[in-house]
Amino acid sequence: MTHPALRVDAVGDRLRLLHVHAHPDDESSKGAATTAKYVDEGVDVLVATCTGGERGSILNPAMDRPDILANMADIRRAEMGRAREILGIQQVWLGFVDSGLPEGDPLPPLPEGSFATIPLDEAIAPLVKVIRTFRPHVMTTYDENGGYPHPDHIKCHQISVAALDAAADPQRYPELGEPWQVLKLYYQFTFHRDRIAALDQAMKDRGLESPYAERLASWEPDAAHQARLTTRVPCADYFSVRDQALLAHATQVDPEGSWFAVPLETHQEAWPTEDFELVRSEVDAPLPEDDLFNGIAVPAGADLASTVQA
Ligand SMILES: [Zn+2]
Repeated sequence: MTHPALRVDAVGDRLRLLHVHAHPDDESSKGAATTAKYVDEGVDVLVATCTGGERGSILNPAMDRPDILANMADIRRAEMGRAREILGIQQVWLGFVDSGLPEGDPLPPLPEGSFATIPLDEAIAPLVKVIRTFRPHVMTTYDENGGYPHPDHIKCHQISVAALDAAADPQRYPELGEPWQVLKLYYQFTFHRDRIAALDQAMKDRGLESPYAERLASWEPDAAHQARLTTRVPCADYFSVRDQALLAHATQVDPEGSWFAVPLETHQEAWPTEDFELVRSEVDAPLPEDDLFNGIAVPAGADLASTVQA
């Protein structure tokens, strides 16, 4: 697709967006259509992936084979490579080892040396370096509960917030580059009740079986949580790109599973945005908003520049 103009900041640099994710596949299941939209608008998008996903289970029956399980780290790296191409992003690995999702009662201890066990000061260093090198205007991560209670997701939240502060502080990690102040920080807000209820209703309206009926029955409305939604980015045109990126993570995504139970068109009509919570901002921008870069200055007289030069 062509662009009328690349999106740039006040000094004419391309806008930059950094997503921090726990595992390979999280970049495709959370905010991926937003990513594809911004890439299409000429924004530089970098995904920092905390772990290699080595302890992920195989969630696609067609891929549940011993040879695949024996090579999970390599296979997930290759899957990430395909998703990276589909989304048009840059991506870096922060180099931590997947903690796995502990199961059982009582829960087993976290594996020694896994991401969730690394002390915070040590765990934020690679991300501080990424922030100071890439210099994002906007950064996203998960909320304090991790979006869902996987220890790597909660740790991802913790290192993101701490690294954002440390990256801006010239006293901290001086060996990791020049300080950089991220202008806006968002939490991914993908799985909230209003959206799921809208998709559920749209399926029923069309006479289709909703995959969410059972879940919604035991999910009480929570006005306080819903009020955290500040930002809805329209990106329905990019849902198909998100679906392709998800399918690239073949061990993690079942093409016959609930992800794809809602037809694309139904999803586009019922909830055409991806959603975020703005939690930090260095700029003035009224809420609610529909653009993660809302309030970030564009060059003065940007519209006139081309005319003057011509
Ligand atoms: Zn994950």
